[in-house]
Amino acid sequence: MAAQTYSIEIEQSSEPRLRGLDVNNVPFGKLFSDHMLVATVERGTWSAKIVPYGKLEMSPSISALHYGQSVFEGMKAYKSPQGEPLLFRPHANFHRINRSAERLCMPPIPEDIFMEGLQQLIRLDADWIPTRPGSALYIRPVYFATDESIGLRPSERYTLAIMTCPVGAYYAEPVKLTIAPQYVRAFPGGTGAAKAAGNYAGSLLADREAKHRGYDNVLWLDGIHHKYIEECGTMNVFFAIDGVVVTPALQGTILPGITRDSVLTLLRDWGIPVEERAIALDELLEAADAGTLQEAFGAGTAATIAHIDTIHTGDRELQLPPIGDRKYANLLLKKLADIKTAKTDDPYGWVVRV
Ligand SMILES: *Cc1c(COP(=O)(O)O)cnc(C)c1O
Repeated sequence: MAAQTYSIEIEQSSEPRLRGLDVNNVPFGKLFSDHMLVATVERGTWSAKIVPYGKLEMSPSISALHYGQSVFEGMKAYKSPQGEPLLFRPHANFHRINRSAERLCMPPIPEDIFMEGLQQLIRLDADWIPTRPGSALYIRPVYFATDESIGLRPSERYTLAIMTCPVGAYYAEPVKLTIAPQYVRAFPGGTGAAKAAGNYAGSLLADREAKHRGYDNVLWLDGIHHKYIEECGTMNVFFAIDGVVVTPALQGTILPGITRDSVLTLLRDWGIPVEERAIALDELLEAADAGTLQEAFGAGTAATIAHIDTIHTGDRELQLPPIGDRKYANLLLKKLADIKTAKTDDPYGWVVRV
């Protein structure tokens, strides 16, 4: 595709809402910053602007609402000790939203619009980036079909909106997981590897039932054998068994997490043995019985590294070792936080200064 540059017009908010607000103390995902990027495409022609955060006008016939052509992303902005805004691996999110879009038969977003729009938006609302440890400015791009037609076919018009919100830690406590015997999240050939809106709609009922039973999240198993571990609703999972860190391989049914990839890179660099492979739930139970299951943790942008406290299946409730004993997860948590806030070297070129 020919390189093209887009000028992104900025309409500044006339009522900045930051004054008097403590960005270090807000509920997750409910308070949005002053501005948003809105880009639209119609048969290949893109236009983009930054406007005050607010409502979009749309018709009830838009196809995203009916047939679910909608994908999203999640990333975070941080501040360096000097107060510069920083993004963590934003190109990886850019490539992933386009892979998700491709799976849902949506046209790719031009790199200029996504990356330039993102940079300008973060620059404009940099004061909204919280600095308390564990907090960040969460960035949510959403890309959806806007044809006003209820015929079933790929839309010819789409909107990309990028909004941001200050967030604290996602989980205050180590998480308790349970298996959902009657449900599957994804299956081979489906959309499990895409950050597609519909995947999350399909998991809400199982999640609610898990919460009613006292658990935080479902630990999803594979859709065919209902035997192998896949991931959680918003994070990939890792286990340390007898000195080896294992995580399910990317086979098209789990989300290729950027945190997952960062964790694998760090562990390999530290010389810690890692394996990406099929992990049967039974293997975890046997390792726990043998005393070799050392750690379990989730990895995702929202949750960062989340210690897993409990895994429940059938009549067993697996209790993982105390947090203080978790060598790998604690090392990763600290290293990732330090890289993201430029408190340590970044040999991987992950951090992008805004
Ligand atoms: C977003 C997401 C993850 C984590 O991906 P990151 O790129 O690390 O944020 C894992 N699983 C699912 C299902 C997700 O939606």
